[in-house]
Order: sequence, then structure tokens, then C-alpha cells
Amino acid sequence: MKAYDLIVVGGGPAGLAAAVEAKKEGVDKVLVLERDRELGGILQQCIHNGFGLHIFKEELTGPEYAERFIDELKEMGIEYRLDTMVLDISDERIIHVISKAEGFVTLVAKAVILAMGCRERTRGALAIPGYRPAGVFTAGTAQRYLNMEGYMVGKKVLILGSGDIGLIMARRMTLEGAKVLGCVELMPFSGGLTRNIVQCLDDYDIPLMLSHTVTDIQGKDRVQGVTVMKVDENRQPIPGTEIQFDVDTLLLSVGLIPENELSKGAGVQLDMKTRGAIVNESMETSVPGIFACGNVLHVHDLVDWVTDESRRAGKFAAKYIANPGGQKEEAIETIPGQGVGYIVPQRIRPSQVDQVLELFMRVRDIYVGQTVVIRVDGKEVQAKRRGHMAPGEMERVKLPVSLFNGPGVKKITVDVESR
Ligand SMILES: Cc1cc2nc3c(=O)[nH]c(=O)nc-3n(C[C@H](O)[C@H](O)[C@H](O)COP(=O)(O)OP(=O)(O)OC[C@H]3O[C@@H](n4cnc5c(N)ncnc54)[C@H](O)[C@@H]3O)c2cc1C
Repeated sequence: MKAYDLIVVGGGPAGLAAAVEAKKEGVDKVLVLERDRELGGILQQCIHNGFGLHIFKEELTGPEYAERFIDELKEMGIEYRLDTMVLDISDERIIHVISKAEGFVTLVAKAVILAMGCRERTRGALAIPGYRPAGVFTAGTAQRYLNMEGYMVGKKVLILGSGDIGLIMARRMTLEGAKVLGCVELMPFSGGLTRNIVQCLDDYDIPLMLSHTVTDIQGKDRVQGVTVMKVDENRQPIPGTEIQFDVDTLLLSVGLIPENELSKGAGVQLDMKTRGAIVNESMETSVPGIFACGNVLHVHDLVDWVTDESRRAGKFAAKYIANPGGQKEEAIETIPGQGVGYIVPQRIRPSQVDQVLELFMRVRDIYVGQTVVIRVDGKEVQAKRRGHMAPGEMERVKLPVSLFNGPGVKKITVDVESR
């Protein structure tokens, strides 16, 4: 059984940033395991620009952003294996992997960072009636076919769901010569970034149909048409509102789910709302020595925030390796209050926070001119007005440690309030 100081599972932007940071912090034997044929994760198929504005103050494409970290990883001599699938991880950090080159191998590490990203919800999750014809793809799968494998997935396209991947694929398919007839969204608001609605739909005259859904897919061998209906406030289709679209392709952009099978196997406690691990301020899960970051922890809108978070995971994994006993102290809980969907991290040990605590959260609805209010054990400590907040955009809240570093503090609550 080969032993490492740190094993990082997943070679996407989260895994890369975490591995590089841990190495910078002095961890000697670091190994990154990636099941794909190259490093970079989902960024390798995101050939559009818009990455890195916060981290590099430049507008990069996905592969360019990934390359910066891949180069750093290689310059630092960090070991990595491609085409290597992690099968399971124990709570003792014993890892079973399989690859063509080496077969079945057992590894052990002093610390593990989970950075497996997320997967897309598929047609099965939506239970749309009809046969199962060719031509129904998740948007990310279509993106990989088009941008990495060189296959055009269809000519007349409808998109269900207005998440960022769907929006980006609306533009991409149009640029490749397809006709995109519309983007259909169940909710009364889009699930994607405003900038993507403008740059991917509005700029190409692709209609966004809010409060609508797909109720039927026609075609047996290949998609021949799709029926769309308006929905009421309970998201139920309204009879008589059927619109028929003559398309050969339906792309689904209906949500991402953290890829947490390995985490569950390791006994990591999960958050029902994020569907990722419950972590503390150091990105450490409920299993000592196992850390999580990136989309496996919660779904991010911008990769820059993934990098920030993953650097934190790398830094604290290094700290854990140097002192596995760790800092035993009662943690403060973060509680999503009114209008807030979730908060990460969920547990805070004030002694481990370096001056300012950063909370990542998603709101439940569209809010304009509302105030984000933070309370420590019920006492208001911060209130900041925000111009615009939407569920598709991750919010960040910064809280000086002095505001919650008292004896016996139990909870930090975040609410959205109109004032
Ligand atoms: C279509 C699309 C468009 C986007 N557009 C933008 C944008 O314009 N700007 C922006 O900032 N962000 C954008 N993002 C978001 C950004 O790309 C993601 O937030 C980021 O890639 C998440 O990084 P990650 O490392 O957590 O996950 P991933 O990039 O998904 O990497 C996870 C890696 O783990 C590997 N893995 C999983 N399980 C195993 C296992 N068992 N064994 C070994 N390896 C495993 C996977 O193969 C993968 O390579 C976009 C995302 C998508 C999908």
C-alpha cells in the first residue's frame, strides 16, 4: 500500500488549486487522482471566455484558466495520475483506485481532499413522458460532444432549464449553425447568471419562456417534436396552453448534483440542502482529515470562488497533516434564515478564522434592494443592503471574527429582510 501525505480526488480547478496550495504550505507527498484523460475538469469543455476575472483580473477561457494551475502543478513536481478512477475511500483514508495502467491499487494518505465536482440531472429525474429517442442530452454532455469530441448534436434545438450550461449551449449551438427555438424555464426567474441571459439569449434573439415546462417529447428513434406548456403558481401545467416545437434536439439544463458517492462511503455527513458535505471554516468534513471543496461541496457559479475555497482546503489540509490532533473546540453553527437557501461553511471554530469569516450562500428568490442581516445568537451584528440577488448567483458575506468570537456563542443566522 503506497502512502502519501495528501491525496486529492479530482483534477478539476478545485483539486488543482487545493493541491498547489498544500504543496506551497510545505506538504511533501501530494497526489492528484483524475478519472478523465486530462487535468482541468469541466473547464476543458468550457471554451467560452469569462473565467478568471477575480483571480487573474483577466478574461480567460476555461482551458486557459485550467492551464495556469496545471502548469503550476507540474512546475512544483506534484504527482498526478490520469485515467484513474477512485472507487472508494474509508474513514481511515485508505483509497482504492483502478486504472488501465496499474489495475487495482490501494493507497493511504494522512489527509484527503474531495474535489469530485458535480453531475447534471437527467431526463430520468424529470419524468417527462414519451419514448426515449435519440436527441435528448444534458447540456453539459452536448457541450463535451461539441467542444471536445467535435460532434454536432442537432440542428433544431429547444433547451429546458435556464441554468448557465443551458444558456451557454444556446449560444454555442447557434454559433455552430443550429436554430435554437427557445429556452424554457419552469420557475418565474432564470437559474443562470444575468450576464449569461444577456450574452447568450438576448444577443441572439433566443426567447426565454419563464413559467413554462416540457410536457411531452415526440419521436421514437429521434426527437421529432416537443410540447411546452405554461405552468401555474404551483408549477402545474395549465390545460390549453400547449405550444408545439418542431425540433430534433432537447437539451436539459435542469440542475447539478454534487458527486458525493465517495463522500458517503467515507461516512462524511452531508447537508440536505447543498447535497454536499457539511464542513467547518477549514473545509474539513465531519470525518477528521477529509476535506471538501469546489462543486462537490456546493454548486458554484464562478470558478474564481472555487479557487478561493479550494486554496483554503489545501491550506488547512496542510495544517492538519502537520498537527493531526487538530483544534478541538465547540463549533458555532451557521443557520440559513428567511430567504436563504443554504450557507457554507456550516460549522465555525472562531480560533481558526483569520480575521474575517467568509460565508457562501444562495438566496431562494429574486430580491431587489433587500438587506442581508447577520445575527449572532439572535443579536444583530451586521446589516448590508444589496442591489440585486438571485438564486442563480452565489452570494458571499464577510464577517469580522471579532463579531462572533465570544464565549458560549452557538449560532450565526443570515436572513434576507426588506427594510
Ligand atoms: C457549462 C459550464 C459553464 C461554466 N461557465 C463558467 C464561466 O463562464 N465562468 C466561471 O467562472 N465558471 C463557469 N463555470 C463553473 C466552473 O466551471 C465550475 O464551478 C468548476 O469547474 C468546478 O470545479 P471542480 O473542480 O469542483 O469540478 P470539476 O471541474 O467538475 O472537476 C471535478 C473532477 O473530478 C473528477 N472526478 C470525479 N469523480 C472522480 C473519481 N471517482 N475518481 C477520479 N476523478 C474523479 C472529474 O473527472 C473532474 O475532472 C461553468 C461550468 C459549466 C459546467
